[in-house]
Amino acid sequence: MKVLVIGSGGREHALVWKLAQSPLVEDLYCAPGNPGMTGEAQCVGISADDIAGLKAFALDEGIDLTVVGPEAPLVAGIADEFAAAGLAVAGPSAYAAQLEGSKSFAKDAMTRFGVPTAGYAVFTDPAEAKAYVRAAERPLVVKADGLAAGKGVILCQDAAEAEAAVEQVMVAKEFGEAGAKAVIEELLVGEEASFLVFSDGETIVTMPSSQDHKAAGEGDTGPNTGGMGAYSPAPVVTPELAEKAMDQVIRPMILGMAAEGHPFKGILYAGLMIAPDGELGVLEFNVRFGDPEAQPLLVRLESDLADILMKLAQGKLDQAEVKWSERPSVCVVLASGGYPGKYETGKQITGLENAALCREVTVFHAGTKLVDGKLVTAGGRVLGVTALGASVAEAIERAYEACDLIHWEGKYLRRDIGHRALARAASGGALVGVL
Ligand code: AMP
Repeated sequence: MKVLVIGSGGREHALVWKLAQSPLVEDLYCAPGNPGMTGEAQCVGISADDIAGLKAFALDEGIDLTVVGPEAPLVAGIADEFAAAGLAVAGPSAYAAQLEGSKSFAKDAMTRFGVPTAGYAVFTDPAEAKAYVRAAERPLVVKADGLAAGKGVILCQDAAEAEAAVEQVMVAKEFGEAGAKAVIEELLVGEEASFLVFSDGETIVTMPSSQDHKAAGEGDTGPNTGGMGAYSPAPVVTPELAEKAMDQVIRPMILGMAAEGHPFKGILYAGLMIAPDGELGVLEFNVRFGDPEAQPLLVRLESDLADILMKLAQGKLDQAEVKWSERPSVCVVLASGGYPGKYETGKQITGLENAALCREVTVFHAGTKLVDGKLVTAGGRVLGVTALGASVAEAIERAYEACDLIHWEGKYLRRDIGHRALARAASGGALVGVL
């Protein structure tokens, strides 16, 4: 098989790393890719948003399977364009990708299919939105409807904050046209977890649970980032809870989309809020792997990812073998100092050879660049140091041991990735297990 991966972050490096292990894959390409992948794939200088360019490349090269990492090309319709040209894609149609591309579309679909989620209202008129939050007088969340690169969500404790958020989103348009429409919903409380599945539109195959750390600072404080680390499994997702997520969220969504004539083919990611009483609420859907959740998930996958994704694209997912390691995994993101605010780039990275010698550690590249043969930083999130262990504590220890061997001026990391899982381990909660 000739396989093309689209994207350039840590998630895409993890996809490339896993696909390269498949005996089915003869040629592996990544567009645009990053320097970490060069041993495994050929990087092609086409941007992830250049759908016409990617299609021309895939047709010229006779690509058998395209795997789309980020959401933007999916929402823009890459799967439809490729399918029309006879190219197999592991990713949803533009219609189905609206589950991520439009928060109001996702909320309306959840309502139709009876999926638990926070109560909400949708607005295109900021004056009406402000009147609504003034009358509501309770904690609310104001969300830009469209894609806002992981931003565009403002948690508000009272009406004054919510009015200010409406102003930011709908009037000042801080998140661009994504804020022309806004979803205003109840604030849910509890612990978050990510629950991902593969689906060909009919068959559903679950992945182990995972949890990411969005906040920049230790103790989950400070501004939100793309993700400072993640681990799998998330002990909050007990076997009963996983079953509940399948029954109440995943199955109704997959069956509902299919029944409406828009089967969801791809990776469906449910961002769940688990209330203290165990009730579930969906915070969001994504239509692709999370970044960094992909890193700890894919190092636990024992089966052939190329086979799984090809069968997904062909509607034969029921024939794929999907096995996961019981061993927990942790990914610690090494970022540029100052991220998610202003940061400097171009700093030389050293110590990767030593980190690569650490047991069961894989270092995935995100914002890196080769300049005159030297590896330098080129983004906010630079590397994802990912480790497996016999326990989550061992995985954490191994990841940090490797993190401490890697250096550049201004390197920043959180020291508490996996703290909730560790706390649960200390209190005797279920830890190991393929969930
Ligand atoms: P979203 O992109 O919609 O998942 O929102 C990003 C983050 O905002 C989530 O991971 C949650 O931490 C938080 N969030 C979103 N919606 C809510 C909600 N209704 N209640 C509480 N927190 C929320």
